[in-house]
Amino acid sequence: MTDRATSVTPTPAAAPLWHTLPEAAALSQLQTGEHGLSAAEAARRLAQHGPNRLPEQRRRSALMRFLMQFHNVLLYVMMASAVITAFLGHWIDTGVLLAAVLINAVIGFIQEGKAESALDAIRAMLSPHAVAERDGERREIDAAELVPGDIVHLISGDRVPADLRLISTKELRVEEAALTGESLPVEKATAAVAQDAPLGDRYGMAYSGTVVVYGQARGVVVATGSHTELGRINQMLSSIESMSTPLLRQVDRFGRTLAVVILAVCAVLFLVGTLWRGHSAAEMFMMVVALAASAIPEGLPALMTVTLALGVQRMARRRAIVRRLPAVEALGSVTVICSDKTGTLTRNEMTVQRVVCAGRAYDVSGVGYEPGGECTLDGRAVAVADTPALAQAVRAAVLCNDAVLRPDGTHWRVEGDPTEGALLVLGEKTGYAQAQGEAEWPRRDSIPFESENRYMATLHRDASGSPLIYAKGAPERILDMSADQLDAQGARVPLDVDYWRRMATDTAAKGLRLLALAVKHAEPAGATLGAADMEGGYTMIALVGMMDPPRSEAIDAVARCHEAGIVVKMITGDHAETARAIGAQLDIGVGKPAVTGAEVALMDDATLRETVLGVDVFARASPEHKLRLVQAMQAGGQVVSMTGDGVNDAPALKRAEVGVAMGLKGTEAAKEAADMVLADDNFATIAAAVQEGRGVYDNLRKFVLFMLPTNGGEALIVILAILFQFALPITPAQVLWINLVTSSCLGLALAFEPTEAGIMQRAPRPPGQPLLSGFFVWRVVMVSALMAAGGLGMFLWELRNGTSIETARTMAVNAIVMAEMFYLVNSRSIFGSILNRQGLFGNPYVLMSIGACLLLQLGYTYLPIMHTVFDSAPLSLLNWAEVIGVGLLVFLVAEFEKWVIGHTALGKRLAQF
Ligand code: ATP
Repeated sequence: MTDRATSVTPTPAAAPLWHTLPEAAALSQLQTGEHGLSAAEAARRLAQHGPNRLPEQRRRSALMRFLMQFHNVLLYVMMASAVITAFLGHWIDTGVLLAAVLINAVIGFIQEGKAESALDAIRAMLSPHAVAERDGERREIDAAELVPGDIVHLISGDRVPADLRLISTKELRVEEAALTGESLPVEKATAAVAQDAPLGDRYGMAYSGTVVVYGQARGVVVATGSHTELGRINQMLSSIESMSTPLLRQVDRFGRTLAVVILAVCAVLFLVGTLWRGHSAAEMFMMVVALAASAIPEGLPALMTVTLALGVQRMARRRAIVRRLPAVEALGSVTVICSDKTGTLTRNEMTVQRVVCAGRAYDVSGVGYEPGGECTLDGRAVAVADTPALAQAVRAAVLCNDAVLRPDGTHWRVEGDPTEGALLVLGEKTGYAQAQGEAEWPRRDSIPFESENRYMATLHRDASGSPLIYAKGAPERILDMSADQLDAQGARVPLDVDYWRRMATDTAAKGLRLLALAVKHAEPAGATLGAADMEGGYTMIALVGMMDPPRSEAIDAVARCHEAGIVVKMITGDHAETARAIGAQLDIGVGKPAVTGAEVALMDDATLRETVLGVDVFARASPEHKLRLVQAMQAGGQVVSMTGDGVNDAPALKRAEVGVAMGLKGTEAAKEAADMVLADDNFATIAAAVQEGRGVYDNLRKFVLFMLPTNGGEALIVILAILFQFALPITPAQVLWINLVTSSCLGLALAFEPTEAGIMQRAPRPPGQPLLSGFFVWRVVMVSALMAAGGLGMFLWELRNGTSIETARTMAVNAIVMAEMFYLVNSRSIFGSILNRQGLFGNPYVLMSIGACLLLQLGYTYLPIMHTVFDSAPLSLLNWAEVIGVGLLVFLVAEFEKWVIGHTALGKRLAQF
């Protein structure tokens, strides 16, 4: 096999068949070594091979995107109308119709671009990382910087960042569904395979885009970017899904149905007008065009998309990166937030405070990672050298450890798991540094920590070659493997299980996180350390208790969630007592029982469903319990947000309405499954995202409530004109003017509406609540009627006073636009009064857009070109006063309605409708 493998001579175009090469041959082909490349060489190769990125999927070209804007029922109607008006010789109307079509398309184009770039910026925040060796050191780098020849480390949960030839593996299992479609994980090794082995059987390779579900490995990068297998099948892994949400789809459907209904009404009116009322076909045609143009809310979908994109951007600024847009809406209805404890609710800055050996409990002083502090026994300092059991404990803690403690200026920094970092700090405090341990007892092998095992183990040999296996992990796991224990003098004596259990409960009740340490002087059962070595024969050395205080902002955030009607549950791998103690500090699960993962496993679905609602702290829980918990809560009608970081959390994250992954300590697999990623792993960020999510949904609703009455009002005016046979109060061109001024100028201001102050004091929104509730329909009809009354009233009043039809129409248009300006201010709150400083002046964009709109209206009224195009006419001061009167009327009636709703039983019933 080796002969054949090395004899593979690459043709200039083809890369070597890496899966057939032994590891050493692959390394030498790539001119690299076991410890990778130097930074300089990597930079050179990066320049040569380009970044390790797949070429962006070809987006639609700008021209295509622009043309697609015309693909819209309404615009078809408008273009057809333009053709017919041209036939009828109404050239100006034709021009206005075509201009409106064009402007609408341009606005849509710009808005779509804006939304896209907002999402692009957020996509960039999710760029994956990889651990590579550079200059002989392990470094976390941007995966895009990987080059062929780099040595990459993989652990469970990683997404393989490039195509790798594996050079060492430790129970590596990789899920390759992205490439092969096979969802069962494949066990990997380092051996070369036959040349014709299909992709799924190339066990010595790990391919870009696949996911490590178990174990560890090292591999050398053989291909990057578009040269990888993933690049070859040219499949981009989806990072953010398309810009649609249930609400947007609802609005889209509504818009389309509305368009069809309006066209049908137009057809009927056309027939009624010509056959029954005796209008000429040409005249009636202009009327129904006016109706169609007025009633269809053309700007609605585009502006809602922008509102959503702005909301997502705002959430990103608060460190919540939304990956799937429907999550924004779902956040508003979340009733339960399930959170991890360590690092999310707590600071993840561990400090060892207690070491319990047989018969003695030592206290450790000092805070954080500064190695200042000492061990005391009953208040008296102890010399570790004189206490053999303690010295053994410290050695186990330092050796059975994957973290690194480094001085960083005046501070100390931990690279790796903070739990392990704390153990290294304990070593420094007691005079046993990591370097000393590595020199005395170099590590030969290890079993990494996996949260489902809750232990890790390492194999060491001293200079004479005698073996030592250290295990550390959750006390009950380590106790299970222990046959005896070390006494204070370091002698092996029979195991006192009760003592350790008592001390574990006692330590955990103080809120300390627990680890147990044990040792075995034996050769591993197989060639390497494996599960068989974890079955027994250990000597229990000590329990370590470490403090991980709650984040102060998490305490506030939990309180805010409670206020918002959201239950917060803690699901942790930690000991039940520790979880309860920390829960109590955070006001989670106070006065309620804590349940363990083992208990959850024993419950059937029905019992779990009943139990889950009354329990807020779940301890010693594994990822598979999370999935069952989510399902049980959902079965109980809850809308669940679940956090997770490990690869096994992915199913629960996918299942939850809002799956939340940790951005810092989370694995790529968890991030991929999540709807939202927390850039700072902080619980407070979830609460902030809920607040923003509620705000975005609110703004979308405000926007719909603002837009629809304008269309409704205009349509009503035109219908009344047709039915009661008076001249059109607003011509099609004028209708288009109003709609475009309205949607582009006024409505957009609501996208910038800040979240309402009381938003976190409301109960969660019932999921599936339709957008157009009975109450919404009422509000739209009411304001439509007011606007129609104002516009039509002004028109008829002017005609009665004997002014020209142009002046009367200008009055009608100005009355409607003025009513809209005032109503925009009303729309800032759906139920709350805006008759206060915040309400009237709180959103500068509203004031600016009203100012801009006013200027446009003045232009419309006084500029000669507008007189030609729109048949407008100048108004007198008295006319303006009347127009403002209409606006004020709409404003006051709308506020009065809110008052009635807030203060009367009937109103309250209406709001629920
Ligand atoms: P959360 O789910 O809230 O993040 P957690 O971080 O406590 O909880 P795990 O990381 O799964 O959950 O840890 C579970 C238990 O495993 C811990 O209580 C501890 O006893 C043990 N443990 C944690 N980290 C290590 C480690 N690096 N080595 C050995 N054992 C560990």
